[in-house]
Amino acid sequence: MSEKKLPSLHVQLSEQEKEALAEEAFQKLKESLSYIHKEEFFEKLEKAYHYAKEKHAHQSRHSGEPYILHPLAVAEILAEFRVDPSSLIAAVLHDVVEDTDTPLTEIEEKFGKVVASLVDGLTKIGKIKFSSKEERMAENFRKMILAMAKDFRVILVKLADRLHNMRTLKHLSVEKRKRIARETLDIYAPLANRLGIYGIKSELEDLCLKQLEYTIYKEIAKNLAAKKKEREAYIEEIKEILETELHKYGFTHAKIFGRPKHIFSIYRKMLGRQLAFEDLHDLFGFRIVLSSIKECYEALGIVHSMWKPMPGRFKDYIAMPKENLYQSLHTTVVRQNGMPAEIQIRTSEMHNVCEFGIAAHWSYKEKNRKFNASELEKFSWLKQMIEMQNDLEDTNEFLDALKVDLFDDEIFVFTPKGDVKQLTAKSTAIDFAFAVHSDVGSKTVGVKVNGRMVPLRWKLSSGDIVEVLTSKTQKPSKDWLNFAVSSKARNKIRSFLRQEQRASSRKIGKDLLTYELSKRQMSLDKIILNKKIDLLLTESKENNYDDLLLSIGYGKINTRELIGRTFFKKEEDENEIEILPPTISEKKDTSSKKSSGVLVSGLDNILVSFGQCCGPIPGEDIIGFITRGRGVSIHNKTCAKALDLDPKRKIDVAWTNEDEDEGNHTVLLQVITGERKGVLADVTVAIASCGVNIKKAQVRLSPNHTGILDFELTLNNLEQFKKVLRVIQGIPDIICVERRNKVKKR
Ligand code: MN
Repeated sequence: MSEKKLPSLHVQLSEQEKEALAEEAFQKLKESLSYIHKEEFFEKLEKAYHYAKEKHAHQSRHSGEPYILHPLAVAEILAEFRVDPSSLIAAVLHDVVEDTDTPLTEIEEKFGKVVASLVDGLTKIGKIKFSSKEERMAENFRKMILAMAKDFRVILVKLADRLHNMRTLKHLSVEKRKRIARETLDIYAPLANRLGIYGIKSELEDLCLKQLEYTIYKEIAKNLAAKKKEREAYIEEIKEILETELHKYGFTHAKIFGRPKHIFSIYRKMLGRQLAFEDLHDLFGFRIVLSSIKECYEALGIVHSMWKPMPGRFKDYIAMPKENLYQSLHTTVVRQNGMPAEIQIRTSEMHNVCEFGIAAHWSYKEKNRKFNASELEKFSWLKQMIEMQNDLEDTNEFLDALKVDLFDDEIFVFTPKGDVKQLTAKSTAIDFAFAVHSDVGSKTVGVKVNGRMVPLRWKLSSGDIVEVLTSKTQKPSKDWLNFAVSSKARNKIRSFLRQEQRASSRKIGKDLLTYELSKRQMSLDKIILNKKIDLLLTESKENNYDDLLLSIGYGKINTRELIGRTFFKKEEDENEIEILPPTISEKKDTSSKKSSGVLVSGLDNILVSFGQCCGPIPGEDIIGFITRGRGVSIHNKTCAKALDLDPKRKIDVAWTNEDEDEGNHTVLLQVITGERKGVLADVTVAIASCGVNIKKAQVRLSPNHTGILDFELTLNNLEQFKKVLRVIQGIPDIICVERRNKVKKR
């Protein structure tokens, strides 16, 4: 439905009328800000008002009113929460960058860094387009908004902005109204709830219901209004009974409130319990507000002695506050006439938190306010804010402390279509590609972030729009493992690389087998045809044809020997008849221990090399991998690089007698020390005392004045290395001793 088809709701206002309306709204705002006593603030506010009015001069609201009324109203809503001056200025300016092409730098020049950063956050959130109805998606959006906002005040201003838009929806098309209401109900009302701002949450919910389920909304509202007098009398009656009873026990200062529940919560009750309006009896909530927690529990006792509590309805949110800091005692009692009444008991401080949520803690006070320990524990970041609140003047530092990473460990990014993908922090472009689909990931040739080409190792941040470019001929590369963070991407890349390795090894295996058979005037095809392949499998102890080809291809099997043993047993020289693979213990005496110090299962005189990545030393658990052309490479059992290799290439290995080793194993060691003269000498002497050779040493000083000593040692075995660690740890002022890998840590 287009806007034009609607009957015109526009009021034609003259320039003077517009000016008068704006001026009136501004005066009203100023009155609501009596809690701020700083002259400079009102000067700045005045400046922001005129600036925003000028910027929005050519815009008007759908009602025909001047646009500036909206930001002023948003600031006025925030005044109820007693927010700090910067949030108020940001509220007045909140649509300037988004709607009028004003650069952010101009805001910063005129109104300072803090305000500019708040406006920036609001502009960013304004750009988020909510496209899916899915509940899971909605949760991601909420998290994303929190993650992107960083500063809690941004969300507060955004909620006020949304509340004012919801209050003034009536001039929009039905379609637009429904879309905005849906989004509000899915994203912003739960966000307000999460932050414990029940005042905004309830109003948003009612306004949404009015748009989305107008008939039901109207009916509940009508029913509530119908017996208004009756209900008011009922509320008064209960209030009086409670008051009399509490006074008897000396709680003369108790404040008692009674009011109908908000429409949306009644609607939810009707829906949840499948009841008609007439059958709902707990339409009212009563609140008793007292001055201490002790009094709350005492008052609860009084209430329960007057009326019977309904089983299962008592909840102690004082002892166990909700996540959003909400505290209160909840109980439902049944009166003598059989009618239930819901009663909440809390202190006035808790009452404040309930109305304003976190905003209550955050509200602007010119004097410091004390918070109790449990409140602070709940939100350590809240603590930071409050502590920094004392130095409101130092804007930069303040802003820094306010950066709230509510979701440190995850980021939220978009596909070009607007779908949200949740990734772990530090995820790169390639992780995103695999998150979209493994086929997309595997075929990635390039990635655009926010419209710009970036390298695949590019680190993503929340709010990025990421587009993946693919090509049919692209294949995952080993290099990708250096920057892929997510386990999904890493696993897919690894498994692809293994597949590829296998395919080529299988082909080599087949070629080799064919070649060796042909030398004996045999053909592989005929052997398969005559089912003689089983003989080869039995002899080689391989499970199937594929495994056989792989083992040949990887070099685990000596093909000529195998063919000889299988088909020409009698003719072969007896020496060559040996069962493969021999176990290590059997081979101990005859195998090559020349220089490597490692025994390789089933293979004699094979070239052995040590993994550069982990540099295993005798005594450690090791595994071997067959490499083409470079013999067997030996890795630590826990080596990350070894994990990337095909398990099919794995081969059993063991150390020879460790004592006989010649001591040419290199180990990298890093020692972090405190600031003390002579500590380096102590460490080198200690190393030498263990009979270990220092090949290289490097000394650096870190920015926080700790010494970083890097050693390259050559030693014989694990025992010796452990001794070095022990001796170094015994030196005073040693902060940490650690073995390092040559390969940079991921
Ligand atoms: Mn706005």
